[in-house]
Amino acid sequence: MLRIGITGGIASGKTTVVKYISGKGIPVVDADIIAREVLSLYPKILDYLKGRYGEKVFSGGELDRKELGRIIFSSEMDRKEYTDVIMPYIRLEIEKRLDRLESEGFAAAILDAPLLFEEGFEKDMDCSILVYAEAKVQLQRLMKRNEITEEEARRMIRSQMPVREKLELADFVVDNSGDLERTKEEIDMVFMKMGIECEEEKEK
Ligand code: ATP
Repeated sequence: MLRIGITGGIASGKTTVVKYISGKGIPVVDADIIAREVLSLYPKILDYLKGRYGEKVFSGGELDRKELGRIIFSSEMDRKEYTDVIMPYIRLEIEKRLDRLESEGFAAAILDAPLLFEEGFEKDMDCSILVYAEAKVQLQRLMKRNEITEEEARRMIRSQMPVREKLELADFVVDNSGDLERTKEEIDMVFMKMGIECEEEKEK
């Protein structure tokens, strides 16, 4: 089974692209969802949080995700430590789910991961796709979707890995700067290059 990692900067259109691909019958594993699910799947993470923060991050015996989020997003050190703890579990869970899809007979599967390159997930993939939008377009779409000012949007984009680095790392690029029809053509072309027969095409 071909394992394809998909990533893209903020508001570049990754979700839109993944939706189109999944509509072709290619299953998607979402790294962000897994990052949330590992907390209930692997009790060792909760043990670590109890040891590290005590009752502060628990409310009525349940993990208080909001409080945990507040802590890890306000301290770079805490965020790094937390990431180091959960990353092996996320990696393991991604592998498990992709293995399951492979055993179910799928010819290809997508890993949807905003931090594909930053976390090194692409190393476990057969290839990677970067969803790209020109800087001006990305900025406009981000401002519109998040209802924020240009300055805020620029700050959010600047906090991410620079797009030129991602362009260098990606095996394929889907340019989503134009309208959606053009993007769909780009995706179809990339899949053709990868030699993937989609469900849609098989039915013809
Ligand atoms: P994030 O990672 O920040 O959640 P994303 O990369 O998944 O974002 P989307 O949510 O797919 O990006 O798209 C960002 C915004 O741009 C959305 O409001 C979406 O409707 C819009 N958009 C995406 N692609 C196009 C397009 N080709 N033409 C016009 N608008 C688009």
